[in-house]
Amino acid sequence: MTQIDDLPVRDELRGQSPYGAPQLNVPVLLNTNENPYPLPDALVDRIAERVADAARELNRYPDRDAVELRTRLAAYLSETGGVTLATGNVWAANGSNEIIQQLLQAFGGPGRSAIGFDPSYSMHALIARGTGTAWISGPRRDDYSVDVEAAVAAIAEHRPNVVFLCSPNNPTGTALDGSVVEAVYDAAQAARPSLVIVDEAYVEFSHHASLLTLLDGRPNLVVTRTMSKAFGAAGLRLGYLAADPAVVDAVQLVRLPYHLSAVTQATAIACLEHTETLLGYVAELKAQRDRLVAELRGMGCEVTESDANFVQFGRFEDTHAVWQAVLDHGVLIRDNGVPGMLRVTAGTDAENTAFLDAMRAVLKEIA
Ligand SMILES: *Cc1c(COP(=O)(O)O)cnc(C)c1O
Repeated sequence: MTQIDDLPVRDELRGQSPYGAPQLNVPVLLNTNENPYPLPDALVDRIAERVADAARELNRYPDRDAVELRTRLAAYLSETGGVTLATGNVWAANGSNEIIQQLLQAFGGPGRSAIGFDPSYSMHALIARGTGTAWISGPRRDDYSVDVEAAVAAIAEHRPNVVFLCSPNNPTGTALDGSVVEAVYDAAQAARPSLVIVDEAYVEFSHHASLLTLLDGRPNLVVTRTMSKAFGAAGLRLGYLAADPAVVDAVQLVRLPYHLSAVTQATAIACLEHTETLLGYVAELKAQRDRLVAELRGMGCEVTESDANFVQFGRFEDTHAVWQAVLDHGVLIRDNGVPGMLRVTAGTDAENTAFLDAMRAVLKEIA
């Protein structure tokens, strides 16, 4: 059988494995930080209407610049983020992963490098690799917070072209103080200057305010967002960024023409007409997250403070064995490869009860 390595594939892809959160058929899925609530019927109906309208024009290419969608996203950010943003400050793509890919195509690439502070979102490094951008793994403290001095020193040493921050951070759940972003940004400008990307995929669940307010006066700062988590629309594939309009102009140099289908644009616009209903679940999920933190601590687990819709916990000698044992109880959680630690997504009340019961049983089994 032909293997990847038998093909004339790029050298840096040899021996690598693809992104692979297991998609298993188990009763309780708490492994990819999705929102557990299906979209409400009123929104499903509105999507059907808007998609039907779009379908009548599917013989034509979609709006290449997704102007109506970006205008609505800018309005949403301006209403919720303590900022005033216009259409030109916002760009949208098929998930924030595509946003990150476009940013790396424009600001990274062969001969260039990007740094992140690990453990963090593994896709930052994977997309860097896919775009030929060298990856530098920067440090984090033992409590998973970003050590500003160490981060600034790493940036001065490596002079990366792109700096990734993630707040709240996946998989640890830790959020960043604005002062950390300011210090990292200043260091990145002094070293090169370089583009600083703040991934805010989970910001709606945070105790901290959005870092969007830092955009003003920082043309090399980008904040990325997604509709996959708090909006409960992971299947839609819609991510976006906010930045200086020049950054939006730069990603337009590398994006594929008509990258965002008319169906995607219509669906996302319908979702943005229902932000209040969608984000109505956020308060419930935050309460469930806090319950997971409290009950896991009650079982004697070490739990990382979380600003997201998931919780990192441990500390286990054999994380894979614990992951498997929880799975044997019908609950799929995530082993992100952080030594000693596992991650569980906050689901519905019943799902979290099933997980917590499974954990109590597993802790007895391994005791
Ligand atoms: C889930 C997640 C995303 C979302 O990616 P999409 O492509 O928008 O689904 C982005 N960043 C982080 C840190 C995530 O955990």
